[in-house]
Order: sequence, then structure tokens, then C-alpha cells
Amino acid sequence: LLLYNMKVWFNGQILDYEDVRIPIDTHALHYGSSVFEGIRSYKAKKGVAVFRNEDHVKRFFYSMQTLRMKIKFDENTIREAIKEVVRVNNLEDSYIRPIAFYSKGGIGLDPRKNEVDIAIFAIPWGKYLKEEARVTIVSYARPNTLITNPKAKIGGMYVNSILATLEAKERGFDEAIMLDLNGFVAEGPGENIFLIYKDSKTAVTPIEGSILPGITRDTVKHLLRDLGYNVIERNVLVDELFIADELFFVGTAAEVTPIKELDGQTFDTSFGKKVYEEYMKVVRGENKKYEYWLDYI
Ligand code: PMP
Repeated sequence: LLLYNMKVWFNGQILDYEDVRIPIDTHALHYGSSVFEGIRSYKAKKGVAVFRNEDHVKRFFYSMQTLRMKIKFDENTIREAIKEVVRVNNLEDSYIRPIAFYSKGGIGLDPRKNEVDIAIFAIPWGKYLKEEARVTIVSYARPNTLITNPKAKIGGMYVNSILATLEAKERGFDEAIMLDLNGFVAEGPGENIFLIYKDSKTAVTPIEGSILPGITRDTVKHLLRDLGYNVIERNVLVDELFIADELFFVGTAAEVTPIKELDGQTFDTSFGKKVYEEYMKVVRGENKKYEYWLDYI
């Protein structure tokens, strides 16, 4: 059991995992009317730190707004609660999951009169994907702004990611690449993607519209510029994936994961590994320039 014997934060209190009970008429259980975050803490130079805590909490509140959730906690309280969960469980490298969800109050589609519950739990965690991933382009498309708000992390929308993941895994791959509704490259089920062109020192990543504009994507944009790369956000054709020198996924869970194979074509992963190393230096507080992203517990 993943969380057995651990402490969780629930509506303002630290409780034992076993003591939280969720009723079966929980609105979010039926319709996915929840929003969540995925955050990591790392054992860093000066102690354990939550990486870009403030940015994750901002996005969490933005996601809550999209579903009109009203909560009695401010951003700072949630930010402190996140650190508290890491602290009380004596975690170092961990994955932290804040979730806000419509709970009791009926199962009509307008949830605004329902209660909103907020929970935060954390688990010890190392790598999410393998060191290098084998990926495949799947048949499910990423929703655009006509379907949802792609900038919000809304629970129900992740069924799309689950279907994509099942398709990729059942085909024998580690992870999926999803296109948008116009056939351009969008992202992975839980990662953004970069294409690398070494001669021109150019990195390309899909524009906003059908992607979650990830916090890691932003971090990596900084690191690529520091490495002398020009970072371009634009629509990316599927063909371009196959002529790029390298591809890699980025995300809180995936960190920087080089892609070594896409549908039978193999890729060099040397630059991706370099970016991974640079990323790990940042999260561990070994890059002075970005120390301000670490929120020590
Ligand atoms: N895209 C999707 C669909 C995601 O779920 C995630 C993970 N939150 C990402 C991209 C990467 O975002 P971040 O770097 O903020 O974790």
C-alpha cells in the first residue's frame, strides 16, 4: 500500500491516511470534477526543497478557478501545507499530489453548491519513466480550447491521457506522443516535448493551445538558452519529429527523459542526457542562478 502509515493533509488538518473517508456521492468521483497538481521535492544542497512550489500552487488555484471552486485557503497556506506534508513524512525525493475536488452536495452537473475538499499527499519517488523512452504516436488527440481549458489540470480530462497511455503500452512502448485536433504534435500524456536541431542550435516545442504549458517546459527553456540554444514555440508537424536530431520529454514526473526510439526510428540521446544533468543540478540547488526556484521545507 502506497500511502499506508503516512500522514496526509486534508482540509487544513494533518491526518493519518487511513482516517480520510470519501463518500460515494463525491461529485468528482462521478464526473472528474477535480483539479490537481504534480510537484516534486528533492534532497538539495541546503536541505529538502520543493521545486517551484509557488508556480505549482499558482497553477493549482488557476485550475480551481476554471471549475469555479471556492476554497477557504489562500495560496500561501497551501504552499506551506505542501511543505508540511513532506516534513511530517520525513521525505526527501518525493512526488507531491495536491487535489481539490467537488464532494458532497448532489450529483447534478452544476457543482457550485457542492462542498470542495482539498487533500495533499506525498510519496517517496525516484524516476517516472525509464532513463530513455521508446515512444509511439497514438490515435487519441489532445483536446483543444473548444473542448476544455488545456492550461488547467482538470481530473476528468486525464481520461484522455489514460487512453493514450493504454494504447502506447499495449503496443509495447513506454509512452505516447499525442497530436492535436489539427494533426500537429501536442505532447505526451503527462509530459511536454522538445525537438533538438544541433547544427542550428535550435530547440522547438509546440505552442500553447492543446498542451499543458508545463512548469518543467519553462525551466528547460531557461536551461536551453543557457546552453546557447534558440528556443522556438510553434506548430510542429509529425514529419519534423523524424528529422530532428534528438527528442525529449519534460515534466515534473518525467524530469528530462530522452526519447531513444519513435515508432521504430532510433535517436541519439546525448544532448537530452546533458539537459537532464543540467535540470538535476537546478532541482538540487547546484545552480546558483535558479536557487530562487527552491522552496526549502
Ligand atoms: N502535459 C501534461 C498533460 C501533464 O499532465 C504534465 C504534468 N503536469 C505536463 C505536460 C508537464 O507539466 P509540468 O512540467 O508542469 O509537470
